[in-house]
Amino acid sequence: MAFLPCARMPQVSAALGILGLFGRRGHRGQCQEVHDHASDYLDGDATPSLAERIRLHLAECQDCNGFVATLRATVAALRNLPVKTPPESTVERVRRIAQGD
Ligand SMILES: [Zn+2]
Repeated sequence: MAFLPCARMPQVSAALGILGLFGRRGHRGQCQEVHDHASDYLDGDATPSLAERIRLHLAECQDCNGFVATLRATVAALRNLPVKTPPESTVERVRRIAQGD
């Protein structure tokens, strides 16, 4: 099926959803599902059936493809940030504050 920009053509997506062309949840519902579970999907924590629904949706929805690609790139960039350890005096000060001392 041709690309349908779901964010820009809600009327078309809704009409096709009513006709059952996008399955039980409708195109916009599938977009919401991708947004809700993209992190689990990228981490490999989605159930097999959810992962398959997301894969199928990404094959037809450029908006969600862009969203998932951006999330994947953001996670990769964050994982490459250096880990800084604060000085022990700072750790002790935070510990005292957390304990209410
Ligand atoms: Zn989508």
